[in-house]
Amino acid sequence: MNKKNPYLQIDRQMVGDIYTSHESMENLTVLCDDFGSRFAGTPEEYKAATFISETFTRYGLKNVKLEEYPYAGWTRGPATLTITEPIERTLHCISLPYCPANDINAELVSVGHGSPNNYSNLGESAKGKLVMAKSSSPRNLGRWVHRKEKYDRAVLSGAAAFIFVSEHPGVGPETGSLQNDSPAPIPGISVCKEDGDFLTRCIDRYKEVKMRLQTTDINEPRTSWNVVADLPGVELPEEMIILGCHYDGHDIAQGAHDPASGMVSVIEAARVLTNYTADSLKRTIRFIAFGTEEIGLTGAYRYTDAHDDELDNIKFLLNMDAAGGTSRKGIVLHHWDSLQQLFELFQWQIQDDIPIGQKVHSYSDHFPFFLKGVPTSHMGDPTSAPSGRGFGHTAYDTLEKVELDNLRRASSIGARIALRCANHKRFPAERRSLEEVQKIVDTDPGLEGYRISLKLKE
Ligand SMILES: [Zn+2]
Repeated sequence: MNKKNPYLQIDRQMVGDIYTSHESMENLTVLCDDFGSRFAGTPEEYKAATFISETFTRYGLKNVKLEEYPYAGWTRGPATLTITEPIERTLHCISLPYCPANDINAELVSVGHGSPNNYSNLGESAKGKLVMAKSSSPRNLGRWVHRKEKYDRAVLSGAAAFIFVSEHPGVGPETGSLQNDSPAPIPGISVCKEDGDFLTRCIDRYKEVKMRLQTTDINEPRTSWNVVADLPGVELPEEMIILGCHYDGHDIAQGAHDPASGMVSVIEAARVLTNYTADSLKRTIRFIAFGTEEIGLTGAYRYTDAHDDELDNIKFLLNMDAAGGTSRKGIVLHHWDSLQQLFELFQWQIQDDIPIGQKVHSYSDHFPFFLKGVPTSHMGDPTSAPSGRGFGHTAYDTLEKVELDNLRRASSIGARIALRCANHKRFPAERRSLEEVQKIVDTDPGLEGYRISLKLKE
């Protein structure tokens, strides 16, 4: 390949603009300090969607709209977790989204990390119990075992309720939904690492520990919105490159890192792409702020349903969920070998630390598109080992932890990748057939949690 950067002039303009502007941090401040968590079903969620659409309009994007959709809503109620025998003690806990209201008296058992092996070792003894799993994954497994997989396995093993224990000290309980867009079959709550360790000691010392769990959450239908905006292409306007991120956070924090750091990076990319490439792009770049990701990727699923007739036209999607955080700004291609060489060329042109790799997971907004065969990717580190969320999904995911420099790197890399995809002559990826998708879904180690969720649905 001819190693020359054909976009050097536009790169300099866009990167220079981003690095001499405070805009992304200002937008982050509005999203976090004015609208808080923007949790699904709150008035602040709608205010955030409106702010994002007004910002896209102000930047000069076209066809800016809110696309409304119904979904299964959930509102947190107080949860109470009490040891009843052989000692009496009440512990701080929080319900996890889609937890049903219930009142359960049962014995406590620990399932360790909640890995497939941990559950098969527990066997029948999970039946009717409060099953407690740590948020960590066993090192030797080589993959991250997501909370939902641990919960699903608890349900499948006949547990009465699920207790999720954070692996990180000093950050309180970690939240995260139990199901996607539907009320959960059994209650699931979360406690901090310190209380989880205490409960483990109780099991060690007393053998039989009985507890009462009361949950009071409300599951009811609600409405949410995706925000969609276009920077139209000139030559092939119907063909599309998508930059996306969700804007809803979890209700216990500002969701500054996850997702807002990624959301404002998408918005910033939209700003500079409009400033320096408007009326000169070959393909359209579409920017999507997805709603209700945290409780089921619902905005993304609804988008792929509503735009089914356009999916052939999506040449590439880059999901920038939480991309303005501390992680490396690589491009993780979701098993698109035909794009590897092209993206390595992009990396060379962009002259930044952008590791390119191939793997996939099912826990963010790219996944509904992936299932429909669309060429998808996310910004992140393809070489990273499975690790926990740290302060992510806790009350401590707050604005002051996000650095302007990371927002600048995420937005400038996102903008330059989108520019190149939009203008590349023959983009070397075509939508996969559903049979090809199924093959990956059936065999990929990163999709084990998704396969378990399908089993539970059956
Ligand atoms: Zn996220």
